[in-house]
Amino acid sequence: MKVIVIGSGISGLASAIHMAKKGHLVTVLEASPTYGGKLNALQIGNYRFDTGPSLFTMPQFVVDLLEPDLKTEFKYKQLDTLCNYFFPDSSHFSVSKNQSQFIKEASVFFNEPDEKINALLKKSKSIYDITSPVFLENSLHKWSTYLSKSGIKGILNLWRLNMFTTMHNALASKIDNPKLIQFFDRYATYNGSNPYSAPATLLVIPHLEFHHGAYLPENGMRDIADILYKQAIKLKVEFKFNESVQSIQKKEKVIYSVTSSKNIYTPDFVIANCDAKVVYQKLLNETLPPQIKKAENSSSALIFYWGIKKTFPELDVHNIFFSADYKNEFNHIFNLKSLCDDPTVYINITSKKIKTDAPSYGENWFVMINAPHNQGQSWEELRAQAKKNILQKLSKMLNEDIAKLIEVEDYLDPIRIETRTSSDKGSLYGSSSNNRLSAFFRQANFSSKINNLYFCGGSVHPGGGIPLCLLSAQIVNKITPNANPRK
Ligand SMILES: Cc1cc2nc3c(=O)[nH]c(=O)nc-3n(C[C@H](O)[C@H](O)[C@H](O)COP(=O)(O)OP(=O)(O)OC[C@H]3O[C@@H](n4cnc5c(N)ncnc54)[C@H](O)[C@@H]3O)c2cc1C
Repeated sequence: MKVIVIGSGISGLASAIHMAKKGHLVTVLEASPTYGGKLNALQIGNYRFDTGPSLFTMPQFVVDLLEPDLKTEFKYKQLDTLCNYFFPDSSHFSVSKNQSQFIKEASVFFNEPDEKINALLKKSKSIYDITSPVFLENSLHKWSTYLSKSGIKGILNLWRLNMFTTMHNALASKIDNPKLIQFFDRYATYNGSNPYSAPATLLVIPHLEFHHGAYLPENGMRDIADILYKQAIKLKVEFKFNESVQSIQKKEKVIYSVTSSKNIYTPDFVIANCDAKVVYQKLLNETLPPQIKKAENSSSALIFYWGIKKTFPELDVHNIFFSADYKNEFNHIFNLKSLCDDPTVYINITSKKIKTDAPSYGENWFVMINAPHNQGQSWEELRAQAKKNILQKLSKMLNEDIAKLIEVEDYLDPIRIETRTSSDKGSLYGSSSNNRLSAFFRQANFSSKINNLYFCGGSVHPGGGIPLCLLSAQIVNKITPNANPRK
């Protein structure tokens, strides 16, 4: 069968591979000049930057897509330190990949009994065990999911998911130390949510990092897109770059053609990897289904790519500089739709492990703060103010005038994210999980009105972030037709 995949983000690439493995003829139409979507890279002078995702978890989902020779070619390493945390009181905590070591060290640093920390991580695992087979690996919108053994087990255990309390309140009821609460609250940002309103079900996220670990590909995150592209090409997937899909034509419940900026295609079915809102509003010229309209967009981000002409031994690959008032920071992002003066700053430095990413005297800093999605704010002003605040904060905490060390610079903001990847309002992860019913508001992996339209990617079930995007491609693989069975 002829399949059109719209977009070559990580899940578009994965879906193309799945479909080609099934024996379909796959064409990927990509608006931009390259594959990977948000998973892109940038070279400025002697500094290389991954421009989008920096934290790589669940590498097995990528490896599973590859044939044996490419499995060997795709090299990545587990990080010994998950992240370095710097608190406003100048204290500093480094998180080991070893869970029992983390529990021991956290118990001392945060002055909390290790049983409490252990119990929290156990809770995280139990939420993962309940949600993964039902809510992450299958369509939420098919009865068969709920009628399966794992589905019935999941439903019987729904009460254990802590859906009716917020992540922050659940943590505050279990832990006394505000710094440890802030540490765990941050996991809500992994899918662009607010810990003060998202359900405690999101406490599933620490398990992914602590149990499965954090990794870095040999040449940086862009390797993930490169290897998937290579696999797709090997399977004879056809890619058409600089070719944006403009509209989809349907008759009754069936798509009969897809019109791009260069051509008209007549596929048997279509997999949309681009933002689901773009599919409805732009490509189908329809209004949004009510449940998608209800879903709140995830946060976006403001990122500075700084080539820094100095090395900082106290920093690692992942570093967090926490704000003093976390509640105020999230209030700015989700309610005031603005930025606070003291944001939590994340710095990713791949040159700590990949020596060619920066000159020997320097480091490639990817400096990110969470930001509201684009609602027409004056981003130029917000960016200038944020840069000042970030520089002031980092200079104070690292005891160094950081501005003077910036050798090269670029940035990404919600407008650029929106323009470059057509992500609605520049959101990083589609919709947020701020509502306990968010999972049900997300676009399903298939259209209920059009028989031959499927959806994958960060804006649809099960959500954003590399692992979930790859799971969405797996679900689409399960529910799309096989190649002609008579052949
Ligand atoms: C700054 C940043 C940091 C992040 N950090 C992390 C992280 O650390 N870890 C993590 O797991 N995730 C992270 N994420 C999220 C992660 O990058 C995304 O969830 C994931 O990459 C989205 O993939 P996708 O398959 O939805 O496609 P996208 O990357 O959204 O790509 C969609 C593609 O579709 C194309 N397209 C759109 N419309 C059309 C059209 N009409 N015709 C043709 N093509 C079209 C676009 O050009 C684009 O290439 C981050 C994202 C950003 C931006």
